[in-house]
Amino acid sequence: MSNKQAQIYDTLIIGGGQAGLSVAYFLRRHKLVYLILDDQNGAGGSWQQTWDNLKLFSPTDYSSLSGWRMPKSKNEYPTKDEFINYLQLYESRYNIPIKRNIKVTNVVKMNGRFKVETNNGVFFSKTLVSATGTAQKPFIPAYSNQNIFKGKQLHSIHYKNTNDFIRKKVLIVGGGNSGAQILAEVSKIAETQWVTLEAPSFLPDDIDGRYLFNVATQKFLGDTKENTDNVIKTSLSNIVVVESVKGARDRNVLQAKRPFKSFYKHGVIWEDDSKESFDVVIWCTGFRANLDHLQSLGLIENTRIKTQYTRSIKEPNLWLVGYGNWTGFASATIYGVGKTARKTVKEVVNALNDR
Ligand code: FAD
Repeated sequence: MSNKQAQIYDTLIIGGGQAGLSVAYFLRRHKLVYLILDDQNGAGGSWQQTWDNLKLFSPTDYSSLSGWRMPKSKNEYPTKDEFINYLQLYESRYNIPIKRNIKVTNVVKMNGRFKVETNNGVFFSKTLVSATGTAQKPFIPAYSNQNIFKGKQLHSIHYKNTNDFIRKKVLIVGGGNSGAQILAEVSKIAETQWVTLEAPSFLPDDIDGRYLFNVATQKFLGDTKENTDNVIKTSLSNIVVVESVKGARDRNVLQAKRPFKSFYKHGVIWEDDSKESFDVVIWCTGFRANLDHLQSLGLIENTRIKTQYTRSIKEPNLWLVGYGNWTGFASATIYGVGKTARKTVKEVVNALNDR
């Protein structure tokens, strides 16, 4: 057995996507010993898993993390590859300490510290920030007889391009940006039907991610003044009419039906009992927080951990950043995460000083 004392970090950050990097950016202003543990083999977090032709719905200026603006894209909306490249440069620009190919499998509390178990060793820290995103927890709603459907089913996180769908009949479920954009490209090479819970909600053509993020900023600043003449009722889940979606609208393929009752062997049964066959169902139905590694702490209730802003209420040395509005308004967006990261680091530093 080695006599070497294990290093105790002031802060460990689990997850090296945009949320983890944002927290590290603010931590580097303090004399703290911290490290990011990330299970990927390169920069980019879950952007690496998104489909090949993905274009962000937020223009460059609204696709930047704190401190350094993303270099201008050739297009108004950056491609995912441009954004991944930016994250890589961001990491090296700020010399962010990060260990890759490290999957955190379990976290326990021991003698007032966190013991972080991974596929490659054990790490210890006084405080912990979890920033593991949602991409590893794709959500598919339950439909009756789903398991007897003989066709292919995949979640949007596993959709890469249209190659496998040429001349197939494809059902696309989900009324957000992913559903609309995947429908827009698949409908060029396949027969498609779109299913959404309610009629899809599109932003006007001249309003893009910029507007949404301005609304988010106002909410963050507590500016609740409403000019009802000018305020368009928006949420971050409204569909931004990017070029591909505009094209789909021109081809008249953005027609959505309300959900079906059930699956049968070859397709779905609609509310009026009519049957329709499909080869493929693409679920664009969102995600849940990926918190499996925190299971042993006994804090997870209903797929979430109760927080005050980003800080766990029951475990005050644990923060959760980036998962969704429940960890700070717009914290699961590029533009919004900086604000939650900044406030989180303030609290982490205070907690370390109070020890
Ligand atoms: P992630 O990017 O998922 O990073 C988490 C990291 O933690 C990953 O590297 C993951 O592999 C790692 N990890 C997970 N579990 C473990 C573990 N146990 N141990 C170690 N590492 C672990 N936002 C915008 O602002 N503009 C847009 O245009 C936009 N477009 C989007 C389009 C799509 C299709 C989607 C799905 C989202 C989009 N978003 C957009 C939303 C948001 O910006 C992204 O979801 C973003 O990737 C979230 O970043 P994150 O750092 O929180 O999580």
